[in-house]
This record gives sequence, structure tokens and C-alpha cells, in this order.
Amino acid sequence: MYSIATKKKIIDAAVGKKTVLIYPELERHDDDFEFVLKDLIYPLADYCQGKNLTNEGKPLMKKRIVILCSVFMIHLSYAQEQGIINNAKSPHVKLKSINIGDCRWTSGFWADKFKLCEEVMVPHMGSLLKGDTGHAYNNFKIAAGLKEGRHQGMHWHDGDFYKWMESAVYVYAINKDPQILKELDEIVAVIAKAQQDDGYISTQITPTDIDRWSNRKFHELYNSGHLLTSACIHHRVTAKTNFLDIARKHADYLYKTFRPQPKELARFGFNQTQIMGLVELYRTTRNKEYLHLAEIFINMRGKSKVEPDPTVRHTMIGDMVQERTQLRKSKEAVGHAVLALYFYAGAADVYAETGEKALVDALDRLWDNVVTKKMYVTGACGQAHHGSSSKVDFVHEAFIDEYMMPNLTAYNETCANICNAMFSYRMLGIHGESKYADIMELVLYNSALSGISADGTHYFYTNPLRRTHDCEMDTTDQRTRAPYIPCFCCPPNLVRTIAKLSGWAYSLSGNGVAVNLYGGNKLTTKLLDGSEIKLKQESQYPWDGAVKINMESCKDELFEVMLRIPEWAEGSKIRVNGKDAGVDVIPGTFARIERQWKAGDVVELNMPMETRLLVGHPRIEEIRNQAAIKRGPVVYCIESPDLPKNTDILDVYLPADVKLKVHNQPDFLGGVTTLSGKILLHASNEESMYSTLEKPDWKEVRAQFVPYFAWSNRGVGEMTVWMPVVWR
Ligand SMILES: [Zn+2]
Repeated sequence: MYSIATKKKIIDAAVGKKTVLIYPELERHDDDFEFVLKDLIYPLADYCQGKNLTNEGKPLMKKRIVILCSVFMIHLSYAQEQGIINNAKSPHVKLKSINIGDCRWTSGFWADKFKLCEEVMVPHMGSLLKGDTGHAYNNFKIAAGLKEGRHQGMHWHDGDFYKWMESAVYVYAINKDPQILKELDEIVAVIAKAQQDDGYISTQITPTDIDRWSNRKFHELYNSGHLLTSACIHHRVTAKTNFLDIARKHADYLYKTFRPQPKELARFGFNQTQIMGLVELYRTTRNKEYLHLAEIFINMRGKSKVEPDPTVRHTMIGDMVQERTQLRKSKEAVGHAVLALYFYAGAADVYAETGEKALVDALDRLWDNVVTKKMYVTGACGQAHHGSSSKVDFVHEAFIDEYMMPNLTAYNETCANICNAMFSYRMLGIHGESKYADIMELVLYNSALSGISADGTHYFYTNPLRRTHDCEMDTTDQRTRAPYIPCFCCPPNLVRTIAKLSGWAYSLSGNGVAVNLYGGNKLTTKLLDGSEIKLKQESQYPWDGAVKINMESCKDELFEVMLRIPEWAEGSKIRVNGKDAGVDVIPGTFARIERQWKAGDVVELNMPMETRLLVGHPRIEEIRNQAAIKRGPVVYCIESPDLPKNTDILDVYLPADVKLKVHNQPDFLGGVTTLSGKILLHASNEESMYSTLEKPDWKEVRAQFVPYFAWSNRGVGEMTVWMPVVWR
């Protein structure tokens, strides 16, 4: 037998980096593969080694080598097939997923959140959606003919239900509670009955006299996407095929319907979760039709005339739904932020399989545009409830101009923020650069978690950075989190994200493991060469910057442990077994420690958790001469309960030389670290729109700052992230 390294060398010499996509055909029969391996590959490897293959000029031989080595390469990789995204065989991914369940939170921040998710968030949401409040399960029963009544909820409510099912599967992956599986089996049986014979499924259409595909406002494809994703995850975790069968039948129906690209359906893919769903289904089944269809949905965008037609609401056209410019030519993130970011995330999945340069170039431009010109300090996206794109299309819940970042009226839908993390997670895989995980983390600790209350039962839809008593409540704005939101897309999106997060914590590199997220956890997985590895991570992150990783078991050969050094973590240090690791520790990159690891090795990363005052780019007019407080990855805010009674939030000023004290408060707001310091108050002149500048009569008071994600857990109040700075 050859070592893995030798085999790789032989293959590289023979075929360079080419990977031929014929393996699915050969792979179908394991016996064939064994034959190929024993009788062809090993002798061939002998031959190659003896003959210096690079000088071998026979085309036929070379062709056979290409084919065989490709089979061989694929099977050299023991990449995990049960990841949140199964990129095990994706040729254009540098960092691959670990299996769902391989990492478990054991202590600290995410362990607490997962526990709440398991014990409260998922069961509570299940009772909402299965009961008459949510009515989502009722909708399926009605469509299945098992219940009288009519569909209730938004047109995308099926998708919300599939997302909740997905979150229940992630919880099952960790706790293996048979009751969850039993309940899901019952639900899947009802969904199967609600599915039409030809594979179509939509509870908002089937029991009515509305025609299929008569108007894209019915969100049929959005629901499809969540169905496909949820079913793939269900299959990966449980090995059951009952849900997957429904998804396949549905995807086959979609293929028949959309593959010919009928003109009247050309604009239907607009809230494009179906692209991610189709790619995931391709990865699950290896049926290339699904990947092909995913690509068709990208290609169709931007090719139709932008004008109202009977299938399209007149306001929801053009940049609003990313159909004015073809994706490959796009330079600017436009339109509805959720739609845009789901679309980009789906396109990243397609790129991972096809490697098309024009696609990844566009995604690089769009990601940069989002995170450097249109994203809030909390990682949130979608600056406006309503507005206009640069090409003067009406936009709604959307990206607007670069650097135009209103606080009070920001939309920042929880879904959009999560989609920003989902897009970034895919880009992390593709490029292997830690800056993408920085954005995931920024979103998670700030504009994602703000969507749910500390007790896990109340939800925010929009996530503005300032709230005043007198501000008008626009679309889906609420003064405080609500126990139920009729438009229920965000809550299950957030709950499934919390449920699956341990699967994002690590990735597998070519020869090692990358640590993307910090927190107390245990990882038991296999590296890409099939060798087993066990790690234990201990940390009170994000409240404390010390991370300790204990190597519990691993292979004898050299491999790498990559530690993400967040962009804010200047002065971080890494020690291995008490000694300086001797590697570059640069904020915004992965620090790479390559060595012959052994059980008992201890890696210590220390990130200075300093409290910083942030300012914005001078072109962000809304925050000129204002500062926000950030400690590690956590953005802070100040809110009414922490101010003298009846203080107007707009009267709060921050001295530039403020000294902030750190307080660990495990029993406050679900367990947070707060800050306190002296602020300045000064009553503004609210009588007139403009008035003469006068020297303020400052009042100095001590106040508390809480993490932004934890605001509004103490009743209705005012809040701000950005505060005007006073220089003394
Ligand atoms: Zn949403």
C-alpha cells in the first residue's frame, strides 16, 4: 500500500489538478470500484512511479490514467457526507463541512443557547406552528384532505414549517430523542398526502381555485427550496428516505416544469431558496438534473424584460428582485435583502460544483459590496423598509445606496442577517479565508440573536439600531418582541441556525481542521484522509478571549490546526504546550499550526477582549461623530431601563474618554457580560426643526450598556447603538 501523500503525488504528476466528473457513473457499484482499485489503480500507481509519468506521452494511456485517477482521488477523500452543506465531493471548495453532530457544544455561550433551543425554542415553536396560532400544520392537513378549513398564514408559510422541521432534525442529531423522529415521521406522512401525484406541493394553492404558477407572489419556489433543504438534512441525519422521496418527486416535477424555460415562468425564481435546495439535493442524490436546474434559475435571472406582467406584481420588479442585471454582471447588491442574499448563497453552492469563474467573480464583488458598503456594524443587511435602487426601481425591505445607513428606520430583517451568514459560510468554504467566518460570527452574536428573546419564545422581525418612542412602526416593526408574527419567516430561520451552529464551528482543510467559531465544545470527526480526530475546546468566549484546545486523539502524521484570528483581535497569542507556537498570528486570517500532533497536546489562543469605540466611514452621514461600543465580536447598546427615568434616548452622549467597566452577569438577560461607564445627558431642543447652537448644560450619569442582541427583554423602551461623541 502507498501512503496517502505518495498516492497524491502520483496522481498530481499524472493529471495535474484535473478532476474528471465521470466518477458518479463508476461509483455506482462498489464492486466496480474495488476492482478498479485493486486491479487497475494500484498496478497503475506502480507503473507510474517506475516510469516517471510526466514524460509519458501516450494520449490513450494518459486518458485512462485521468479517468482512473479521478475515481481514485475521489475515494482517497473521506470527506464527510452529512454536513449542513454536503460539499464532500464539491470540486471547488477548500474547506469542507464536518458531519452534523460531530461537534457538540459542551459549556459556555453556545451550549446555553443550544440547550434553550432544544428545550424551549424548538418545542415551543412546534406547538405554535402545529396549533391554531401558527396554523402551518393545519394547512398541510387541509391540503392533504385530512382536515376541513382554509389555508391561513402567508404564502410562504410552508417554507417556515419546513425550516422548523429542519431545526428539529438538528436537535435530534445531538440528543437522539426518538420522540422527535416519531413526530417528524407523522408530519412527513401528512406532507406526502398533501403532495400532488405529479410532485407539486403548495398548501396555499392546492385546496383553492388558484392556478399553479399564476403569480410569483405565491412563493411556490421559495417553499420548494426549504422543502428540499429540510428533506436533505432529514435524510443525512436519520438515513430515512420518507421525506427525501417527497423532495425528489417534487424536484423532478420542477425539472419538468422549468427545464424547458417557458417564457411565462422565466421570472418565477425570485426568492431563490430553491437554488440552495436543488444543489443540496444534487449532492444528496448525485442526480445532475437538479444541479442543472439550479444553474438554469441563475441563468434565467436578468434575461426577461423588466415590466409588469400577469404573473408579477407591478411593484416587485427589476432591482427589487434582482432581475434587472444578470448575476454574472452584477457589481452591487440590490433589492430585497433576503432575496438577494439567498440568491447569492445559492449561486455560491452552484459555483462549488461547477467552478465557473464568472460566477465566483460576481459573488466576490457582491460579498465585498455588502460587507464594505451596505452592512451595519451588527452584520445586519437591508437598510430600508422602502426606497429606490440606483437604477430607480422601487425596492422594499431592501439594500439601498452605498453608505446610506439609517439607524432608526433600518429594516434589517432577521432572515437577511442570517442569509448574510449563510452566504459567508459558503464563501468560507470556497476561498478558505477567515474573513468570511468573521462575518458569520458578527451576524450570529448581534443581528441574528437579536431576533429572539432571552427566554426563546418572542421574536423580532426587523432589527434597527435605534428605537425611539415616537418613531413610526413601519412594515413588520414591533416595539418589543412578539410571541407570534403573522409573517413567520424569521423565527424558524433563526432557530434552525442556533440548532445547527455546532456544524459551522469547524471545517476540514486539505490536511487538518479549521476552527471557525469559538466556545466550549467537543469535536469527534475524521480528517479528509479518513483519520480520526478528537478535540476538546474550552472557552467562555465571547465574554473572555481565552480558548484552550485539548487534542484528545489524532493520527501520527503531520497535520494542521487552523485557528481563526478575528479581524478585531490585535495582539492575539498562540501557545502550544505552554510555548509560543511560532506561527503568524494575524487578525483577519487563520493562524496555521502544522505539526505532528499527539494526544495530550494543548493549544491556547488568547485574544485580548478589549472594549473599543468604533466609528463609521465618513460617508455614512447617519453616524458622523458618533461611536458604537464593541467588545470582541459583541456590539453593545444603551436602552431605557439603564437610564434615569424619562430620559430621551436622543439626549444620550458618549464622552470620547469614557472608561468602561466589565461585569459578568450570568443571571442577567440569559447570561451576558455588561459594561458600565459615565455618559452625558443633555436635553435637545425639540421645539423646532433647527435652532441656534448653544453650549450644552451636561449632566453626567453612570449607565449600563448591554449586548445589542439582548435589548428589549425588559419591556418596551428606547435604544441606540450609535451615540454622539463628546470630546473633552
Ligand atoms: Zn424573515
